[in-house]
Amino acid sequence: MAGLAYEGTPLPVNEYLVEAGSRIHGRGLFAIKTIPPDTQLIQYLGERISKAESLVRCEEENAYIFTLDDQYDLDGDMPWNPARWANHSCSPNCEAYDVEGQIWLFSKREIQAGEEITFNYGYDLEDYQEHPCACGSPACVGFMVAEEFFGVIQRRRDLAMTATGPLASVGSGESEL
Ligand SMILES: [Zn+2]
Repeated sequence: MAGLAYEGTPLPVNEYLVEAGSRIHGRGLFAIKTIPPDTQLIQYLGERISKAESLVRCEEENAYIFTLDDQYDLDGDMPWNPARWANHSCSPNCEAYDVEGQIWLFSKREIQAGEEITFNYGYDLEDYQEHPCACGSPACVGFMVAEEFFGVIQRRRDLAMTATGPLASVGSGESEL
């Protein structure tokens, strides 16, 4: 396993994954071997909690809470949930799906050995400035938000740039900016 992007020889999480230091944030999950597309990789475990309890924990800056249904959320901030190490990316190689009430991470494409496992945390726009993204992807929008909000973030960023540029011309479309 020489030459992979993770250091040392940590114990595998399962047949595909190992947990190690990440360039994105803190710890991360990494592929031990080539993973085919659409592979059911790892279950996102956690404690099933009520919406009221979820609200309390979210206000305590718990970043590991998943929406399960109208009644319950899943708090994955548990030492027995290795999937919590998976970092957010704006160009993720995995996606989270609900499989009969269980949250699983699936590969979106083929993943090479040594690649970090990422998925989009699916955050909404509430307080998004408090969640800057360091995923390093060329398509990074700068904040951890669901893909459906990428356009909004980009427009806000473009507006901010225009506002600080010289002679922001409104409506000409021919601006040199
Ligand atoms: Zn990003």
